[in-house]
Amino acid sequence: MSLIKLENISKYYKSGEGVSVGMQKISLEFNIGEFVAVTGESGSGKSTLLNVISGLDSYEDGELYIQDEETSHFLVKDWENYRSKFVGFVFQNYNIIDSFTVYENVLLALEVQNYPRKERKKRALELIDKVGLTSHKHHKASKLSGGQKQRAVIARALAKDTPIIVADEPTGNLDSESSKQVISLLQELSKDKLIIIVTHDYDQVKEIATRHIKMHDGEVVEDKTLKQNTHEDVKIEPSIKPMTVASVARFALRNLLSKPRLLLFFIALQVMIILVFTMTYSNVMNTARQDLFNLNLDMGPDIQIFDFHTSNMSDNRMNVVRKDGQTISSDDIEYLSSLSGSNHFVYEGVLFIDEIETNYMYYTHPQGYTDYIPRTYKYDTTYFISKQPQFLVDGRMTNLSATEVVVSNALRVNIGAIIYSREDVVTSEEVTPIQLDTYIYKFPFEDFPDKNINNITWLITYDHIETIAYYGWDLLDLEQLDPVRKDYVTNVSVLVEFYEYNEINYTVVGIFDDSNRGALYFSHDELLNASGNQTLSLSASSEITAERLFKAIDKTTYRVIYPALEQNAIQALFAPINFLISLFFYTLIYGFALFLYFILYSVMKNVMSSRKKDFAIFRSIGTNESKLGLLVIFEQVYMMVISFIVSMIVINILSYSNYSMNLILQRLLPFDYVILFLTFTYLSIWLARRFNKKTFKISVIENLTESREDTL
Ligand code: ADP
Ligand code: MG
Repeated sequence: MSLIKLENISKYYKSGEGVSVGMQKISLEFNIGEFVAVTGESGSGKSTLLNVISGLDSYEDGELYIQDEETSHFLVKDWENYRSKFVGFVFQNYNIIDSFTVYENVLLALEVQNYPRKERKKRALELIDKVGLTSHKHHKASKLSGGQKQRAVIARALAKDTPIIVADEPTGNLDSESSKQVISLLQELSKDKLIIIVTHDYDQVKEIATRHIKMHDGEVVEDKTLKQNTHEDVKIEPSIKPMTVASVARFALRNLLSKPRLLLFFIALQVMIILVFTMTYSNVMNTARQDLFNLNLDMGPDIQIFDFHTSNMSDNRMNVVRKDGQTISSDDIEYLSSLSGSNHFVYEGVLFIDEIETNYMYYTHPQGYTDYIPRTYKYDTTYFISKQPQFLVDGRMTNLSATEVVVSNALRVNIGAIIYSREDVVTSEEVTPIQLDTYIYKFPFEDFPDKNINNITWLITYDHIETIAYYGWDLLDLEQLDPVRKDYVTNVSVLVEFYEYNEINYTVVGIFDDSNRGALYFSHDELLNASGNQTLSLSASSEITAERLFKAIDKTTYRVIYPALEQNAIQALFAPINFLISLFFYTLIYGFALFLYFILYSVMKNVMSSRKKDFAIFRSIGTNESKLGLLVIFEQVYMMVISFIVSMIVINILSYSNYSMNLILQRLLPFDYVILFLTFTYLSIWLARRFNKKTFKISVIENLTESREDTL
C-alpha cells in the first residue's frame, strides 16, 4: 500500500483559446519516510504536480489514490477533509497571514484541527521554539524577514502534524543562510512524514533527499531513488477533528482585532449607517404608530370621557381628578409622579397651552420689522421647559413671572426683547340713529369719537312685527328699502360692533433650543392661575408613553380625562387600514436599510477581496468552506454588535444636548431596540453571505494564485 498513488494523471489548463499542458500521464507512488526533491525548468509542471497531490487542484484524466482509496468520487468537502488531515503546505511566497503574529499563525493551525484547548498555547510555543523564532513570537508576520516567515510557515505546517508536507520552492526567495535553516528543518521532519519539495537548487537538498524526480514539459523524465526508505508501511489514521464553532468565533475576533485600523473604519461606517437608520426608523414608526397603538387601548368601564377642557389638549396629556371629588393632595401627586415607564411630568392645575390657535404673537425682528407667529402649540411646552433644562442656551427658564417668557432660538430674538400678544375683543351696543326727515336716518358718528367701529347693522321694525336688517354706513332712505311698507315703520335702531384688542407685553428672559420649532414658552404660574387645584395634568414624553401612563393609573381612585382616547372608536373602524399602513412603513424602512447596507457592501467589497490571500491560506491549512463562511459571518456580526452599542451610546449622549435626538430616544420602545438589533444582525449576515459567495466561487488554488499575483 502506498500513501499516495498517481495513475496516468493528466492536467490541462485552458487559457484563452488554447489549452496548455500542466502535466501528462503521470504515474507515481509516494510513501512516509520519503524526502522527494522535484526539479525541472520553469513551466515543467512541478507546481501542478504538487497541487494535484495536495488536493488543491483538479485534474482531467487518471486517478489519484489515497492509501488505496480512489478519489474520483470526492466532493469538495472530501478534498477539504483530505487537505486538513493529510497535507501541510509551505509555499514560495510564504503563505502566512501578515496581520497575525507568529504565535497567532501557529495557533491558528492548532485551532483548525481542534487541538486540545489547554495544550494549544504550549504546543504553539514549542513549535515556534523548534523553528527558532521564540524571540519573534509576538511579531506580526508582515514585519518578519523572508527566512523568518518561511520558518513560521513550517512551524505552522508542523502544528498540523500531517503525514504529508508539500513545499513549493520554499527557499526560492531566501538567502543561502536562511535556505539552509529551512531545509534542515524539513529534513528533521522527514523521518515520519512524506516530504515533497520543489526546488530549482538541487544541490541544496541532494544530501538529504531520498528520491529525485525530474520533470520536463509536464512529464516525469527521471525518478531516481537515492536512499532506501526504511519506514514501515502502515495505514495512517490522522486524528484531526474539525474546528469547533467556538474556535471559529474566537478566531474571527482575533482576525478583526489584528487589523485595528480597518476595524475602526468599518465600525465608524456602520455607526453612521445605524444612526441614520435608527433616526429614520424612529420617525417613520412614530408616524405609523400614532394610529396603530391606540387600537390596543382598553378603556375599561370606569373611564368616563367628558368634555372638560379637552379640545386643545395634546395627545401626550391627560387630566386626572379624584373620583370622590376630594381636592388633590400631596399623596395623589406623589402616587401619580411615581408611576414608572412613561417619563412623565405631573402639573398641579390643568394647563391649556396645547394647540391654542386664537391669536398671534408679535415681536420685533432684529432687522427692524415686526414679525408674528401664530400662537399654536403642538407640543406640551411646559413639559420640555422644566424637564429639559439642558436645552436652555441663554438666560433662564426658572421662576418666570406672569409676563416673562422663554422663546425658541428659532425666533432669533434677544434676551430683554419684548414680545406682545394681541387678542381681538369685539363688543356691541344698540344706539338710536339721528332722524333727518320722515324716512331718512343718520348714524350718530359723533357719539363714538375714538372707537374702532367694526360693523353697523340697521334694525327696522314694521308694525311691531318684523325686523329687517340693513348693513351700511350711509344715511338710509327707507323708500329705497321698501316703498310699500315704509309708512308702517314703528322703530329704527342701529347695532354697532366695536373692535378692540388687548395687548400684553412679555419680556424674553430665556432662549431655548427647540430645533427650529419656533415655539414660545410661558410661565408655568401664569397658566396655573387659570385653573384650580382639583385637577392634575399629567404630561408624558410622547403619545406612546402617554398610553402606557394611562394604563398604569389606578382607575378606581382616579378619573382620567384622556382626549387621545376619544378618537379610538373611529380609529378602530380603520384597523385594517392601519395594519396596511404600518406594513407599508415597514416595507419602506426595510428598503431603506437594504439600501444603506448596499453602500456598506460596496465599500467593504474591495477590502474583502484584498483578504483573498488570507482566505486561501485558511483553506489550504484545512479550514473548510463552511467554517470559513461562518468565520466571515462572525466577523460581520461582531462588527455590527460593536457598532450597534456605539450607536446607542452616541444617541444617548447626543440626546442630552440635542432636542431631536431626545425625541428619538423617547419614541423608541424596548421592542424597537430588539427589532433594530435583529434587523442589523440579519443584514450583517446577509453581507457576510454575499462575500462568501464571491470567495468560494473559485477553487483554493485559484484563490492562492490570484492572491500571489496580487502581491507581485
Ligand atoms: P512549474 O511549477 O514547473 O514552473 P507549473 O506547474 O506552474 O510549472 O506549470 C506547468 C504548465 O502549466 C506551464 O506551461 C504553465 O504555463 C501552465 N499553467 C500553470 N498554471 C496555469 C494556469 N493557471 N493557467 C494556464 N496555464 C497554467
Ligand atoms: Mg511552480
